Amino acid sequence: MWQETTRDDRNLRIWNEELDDFVPDRVLDFHVHIWNAATVGSAVPFPCGGHPLGKYDYDDLRDDLRLTYPGRQTTAVCFGLPDVTYDMKANNAYVAAGADHERFFPLRLVDPHEDPDAVREDVLKSRFVGFKPYLDYVRKADPNDVTIHETLPPGIMRIADELGLLIMLHIPRSERLADPVNQKQLCELCAAWPRARIVLAHVGRAYYLKNIVGHLDRLKEFENLYFDLSMVHQWEVLEYLFSIVRSDRILYATDIPIALAAGKSVEINDQYTYVTPIPWHLSISDDHGKLVFTSFLYEQLRATRKAVERLDLPRSFVEGMFYENGTRLLESVSHAGGRRS
Ligand SMILES: [Zn+2]
Repeated sequence: MWQETTRDDRNLRIWNEELDDFVPDRVLDFHVHIWNAATVGSAVPFPCGGHPLGKYDYDDLRDDLRLTYPGRQTTAVCFGLPDVTYDMKANNAYVAAGADHERFFPLRLVDPHEDPDAVREDVLKSRFVGFKPYLDYVRKADPNDVTIHETLPPGIMRIADELGLLIMLHIPRSERLADPVNQKQLCELCAAWPRARIVLAHVGRAYYLKNIVGHLDRLKEFENLYFDLSMVHQWEVLEYLFSIVRSDRILYATDIPIALAAGKSVEINDQYTYVTPIPWHLSISDDHGKLVFTSFLYEQLRATRKAVERLDLPRSFVEGMFYENGTRLLESVSHAGGRRS
């Protein structure tokens, strides 16, 4: 088993001693990737924290949610893997078919080259609650040259605005949240399409403190901009976010399945890297076997708790972040009928 969950006693101990009295009864994870074997086909399996995965389906997710948050009621916003070598259509169909709008809510991978009319029709037919664009779909030679507007052309944004859809946005460019082009385009996007709701994945990929300080000042004013906490393990970043933006803009999220792998991201000299027990293209790995790891997810929960406690935030903040803020957002996507009753 590559997943670090309470199936292992050392993770169960962390849950019991550090997390059980912090995590609320209801948990909504706003950032989960799901795909079936048909998505990957004969392409290279997804490197999940160094573990090659040919699929991660709804059954895997159900098992892992139970073993990650013992005794909790869990729900999730689910979308495919935005990889140009995978079958996006098969992935979207799988995500939509398994989403019941009670526990699991589907977002649609979107390629900026798609015909907007066909995208709109598919959103309505399959009841997607939003889009998951990605820089790789722009297909530029240098992915660092991609801009937000290229991943979300007007034809796609018009649909999001008309239907009040969510957009799970992984911002491009090496300066991330601090990038002036990103800052400008985010402001333009939020202002031009006020009924679309933009969720900044990984707090705008600000995985180290210098990347976030001073860079929320313009963004925090927008009514339609939200922040997803997935894979942010630095309590300093979380503390800064919690102290600056409105509390109902903060959404608990993890990036499962990656978040279930062993490792942690660490900040070094105004940069970050992941450290993992095994080699992974995004990490430095512990070749000497010096460390005992837990999941990225539990490291994120530890950091989140520390930031909440340092700021002495109330229980209502925690419950909003873990469940209520995101649930309100999902219920407001009207074309998908909200939740089925
Ligand atoms: Zn992700």
